[in-house]
Amino acid sequence: MENYHIFISELDAAMQAHLEWTRRVLRCAVLHISPGSDVLNQEAHSQCRFGKWITLNHSVFDALDPHRTVAMEISHKAMHDAIRNICNKVLAGKPGVESDLGAFETSQTLLVSHLAEFKTLLVQSDSQLDPLTGLPLRHRLEQNFELMARHASRHFTIPSVMIIDLDKFKEINDRHGHASGDLVLKEVASRIRYALRGEDQVYRYGGEEFVVLSELASPDGAEIAVQRILDAIRSLDLCSVGGAEIHPTATIGVALMQKGESFKHLLHRADVALYEGKDAGRNRYVISKPIA
Ligand code: GH3
Ligand code: MG
Ligand code: MG
Repeated sequence: MENYHIFISELDAAMQAHLEWTRRVLRCAVLHISPGSDVLNQEAHSQCRFGKWITLNHSVFDALDPHRTVAMEISHKAMHDAIRNICNKVLAGKPGVESDLGAFETSQTLLVSHLAEFKTLLVQSDSQLDPLTGLPLRHRLEQNFELMARHASRHFTIPSVMIIDLDKFKEINDRHGHASGDLVLKEVASRIRYALRGEDQVYRYGGEEFVVLSELASPDGAEIAVQRILDAIRSLDLCSVGGAEIHPTATIGVALMQKGESFKHLLHRADVALYEGKDAGRNRYVISKPIA
């Protein structure tokens, strides 16, 4: 990611900022002074600096760990709700309740631990991230596939590769403009990420191509996953910068690893399957036939 160092320092700043929240609650409780209208606001969690920053960097968090992203947002909102409850009672001269304090402490601890985990994930992922979609680029694809293949051989699962290529994407750019094309890429990337399990890996492989590495419990698993991705992309209902509707579709080539098969060969089979899908009319998937 281009702004890697800035992102890390923002993350550090966010962790520091939780101390500031504690200070504001304490001042309100001890001195009975308002912590500020931004704290008492119902939408404080989306208006605070941290909330705005999460929204802005959603794709980066999603690419690192989509489930943790949701959990982080929930704990952030819960922390704001607890602070509001505590301060409103103090300001109304009502006695405080222990459950509000408990909610504040729990949500704040959770939030900080999510942030710390994101920092670890980011530092560990020395693969570079794509600034547009937040997804990793292809640098460590092969290496990560080898790790997956080793894990799969111990757990009797099947490593698989998918190549997802957006259909007629050049036309989308030509008709709606490059900025709208970028928006489509960002939304599609996020849909693909959400359609998969946390342990599946998604890469931005090229301009409008994504690669998914996935360990399947059985050969049928590929169809279920690939169908979920196609449906997620088809259900996108996007507005271009100029306000026109855009309904992107994709074609997907899938290959399941055969015994002793190299990553290059597997990727090549997925690519051949993708082009079969394009030739057959796009907006579909093709699973590469096993080689006898
Ligand atoms: P097909 O269905 O055969 O895949 O057709 P296509 O138009 O998607 O394929 P083609 O490879 O001809 O065009 C891909 C286009 O993707 C061309 C390029 O300008 C566009 N593209 C690549 N990267 C980006 C990007 O980051 N942003 C935008 N907006 N467009 C991009
Ligand atoms: Mg392409
Ligand atoms: Mg394309």
